[in-house]
Amino acid sequence: MSRRPFRVGRARTGLGLFATKPIRKNSRIVEYKGPLLTGEAAEKAENSGNRYLYEINSRWTIDGAARSNVARYGNHSCNPNADSYNVKRRVFIRAMRNIKPGEEIVYDYGIDYLKNVIGKSNCQCSRCRKRRNKHAAELRTKRQRKAAKLKRESAAKRAATRAAKSKSAKKS
Ligand SMILES: [Zn+2]
Repeated sequence: MSRRPFRVGRARTGLGLFATKPIRKNSRIVEYKGPLLTGEAAEKAENSGNRYLYEINSRWTIDGAARSNVARYGNHSCNPNADSYNVKRRVFIRAMRNIKPGEEIVYDYGIDYLKNVIGKSNCQCSRCRKRRNKHAAELRTKRQRKAAKLKRESAAKRAATRAAKSKSAKKS
């Protein structure tokens, strides 16, 4: 087998996985590795703030916190190009579509993680940032329109006042 098709690199939110060669749709990219926890041990790890727990099912959870688990550097996205799947108690990340070299490999951590850990309004994925930027731009345009309108109105008012003044000046 050739070397892995990605590297760990600097991403918007810390580290991330970046393709170093073309990755074909449906191909396996990396395994999400770590000791298997169950029941109490999984709960304990969760309560201790371990953010790298991968719940396979109601019984088994992978503790992926070790640095040697490079899959843990894969960031969340609401518009992912990869996803995770399990074969028995092993979890793999695979490409959902063809991924180009240089592209960040991202997968969807799921709605619970997004809501409880990241916070919906804090998501830094490209889709959420685009959405927020668009919203900010719309607000900016609205504000500019309003400011322009106020300017026009006050100019009209000034003109009216001037006209009234010159009228009364003519009278006297
Ligand atoms: Zn997002």
